[in-house]
Amino acid sequence: MRYAVLGTGIVGRTIAGKLSSLGHEVVIGTRDPEVTLVRTDPDPMGNPPFAVWHADHGDVRLLTFAEAAGSGDTVLNATAGTVTLAALEAAGAANLTGKVVIDVANALDFSQGTPPLLNPVNTDSLGEQVQRAFPDAKVVKTLNTMNCFVMVDPARVPGEHTVFVCGDDADAKEAVTELLTSFGWPESSVIDLGDISAARGTEMLLPVWLRLLGVLGHADFNFHIQVARTST
Ligand code: NAP
Repeated sequence: MRYAVLGTGIVGRTIAGKLSSLGHEVVIGTRDPEVTLVRTDPDPMGNPPFAVWHADHGDVRLLTFAEAAGSGDTVLNATAGTVTLAALEAAGAANLTGKVVIDVANALDFSQGTPPLLNPVNTDSLGEQVQRAFPDAKVVKTLNTMNCFVMVDPARVPGEHTVFVCGDDADAKEAVTELLTSFGWPESSVIDLGDISAARGTEMLLPVWLRLLGVLGHADFNFHIQVARTST
């Protein structure tokens, strides 16, 4: 498969690296490849600049958002949630048409400091905004409720734990579930929450996730939904 990962942050890199290690053809999208490659400062979370990662992942071509989206059969959005719509506009609606668009972003708004606000929230979600803005794309929201290293290596967290998927297209969700399985997620860990409006719920888990990060002091944890064998 040919994957276009939009986003050069730690999430885009981690997922692109995993996809590449699984033998997929992967490109990674950015606003301006030259600018991205000459950055020398770590990101606000202390991750090294993109070029450091890219030196070890020369097989993953760095392209503009539009070039990347155009060359992928499946597009994965790993851009900052507050600019996701702008990034996907730059990718171009025509380059998303008919494609599965996996959305792992969270609309965390740090404009008023920390903890961040969620925007949109309650009556809307980023997943829905993306689907509305690009009606010919098949948006599947998934993996946004955990750290990126857990996304691609669920065994970092012992035992069974949960990854949610939601979206309007059943075939797209099936394809994404297959991809998750290839990342190491047992099918029994995947919970399909239904249509894309369920992204409201998964995105609204973020305040709990962020609080857990503070309490636990690290990000190797995840939500686990346990279901009783029988209900009364
Ligand atoms: P990030 O810093 O949130 O986003 C980086 C990407 O956003 C870059 O590709 C950057 O483009 C793009 N961007 C920034 N400003 C832009 C603008 N004005 N217009 C268009 N694009 C712009 O990266 P991240 O920390 O890897 O997170 C990616 C997403 O995953 C976020 O939505 C985050 O909430 C979500 N998420 C993160 C984790 C995690 O483990 N950190 C877990 C779950 C979900 P350039 O490449 O041009 O700089």
